[in-house]
Amino acid sequence: MNSISNLVDIYRLTNRKITPQRLAIFNVLDSNTDHPTAEEIYEQVKSQIGNVSLKTVYQTLNELESLNQIQIIDVGTGTSRYDPNVNQLHHHLVCQNCSKVKDIELDISGEMLKAFSQNSGEFKIDRVEVVIRGLCEVCLGKGSSKQSEL
Ligand SMILES: [Zn+2]
Ligand SMILES: [Zn+2]
Repeated sequence: MNSISNLVDIYRLTNRKITPQRLAIFNVLDSNTDHPTAEEIYEQVKSQIGNVSLKTVYQTLNELESLNQIQIIDVGTGTSRYDPNVNQLHHHLVCQNCSKVKDIELDISGEMLKAFSQNSGEFKIDRVEVVIRGLCEVCLGKGSSKQSEL
C-alpha cells in the first residue's frame, strides 16, 4: 500500500472524497501485518472515530483493492482477510487454531518452479501462492501445556 499521503492524492486525482472514515481506514491498514478481517477493521475504526458503518468499510476496502493498494486473500479461515502488503511477493502461514495469518517470504523460482511446471501437464502456471498451515507461537504454547496435562 502507498503511504497515506499518496493515497489521499490518488483519491483526489480520481475524484473520490476523503472522509474521516476513509482516512481512519487508511490508518488502520497502514503497515498492518495482521491480515485483519473487514469486521476487525470496522471495530478499530469505530474505536478511533466512532462514526462509521460496516458498509463504508467494505466499500473502501473494495476501492483500495481495485486501486491495487491492498489484496483480498482467502486462506481458508472462513472470512476474507485484507493485506496491505502488495509490493512484496510473499506467502502465508495460517494458524489452524486461532486463524492468525502471518507473512512468510519463500523463494519459489528457478528449480522449484520448473519442477511444478513439469508436473502440471498442460496447465500453464502464472504464479504460485503458498499457504502453510500449523500452529502459531501462542497456540503452540497452549497446546503443549494441554498435552502435558493428559
Ligand atoms: Zn494460533
Ligand atoms: Zn500477507
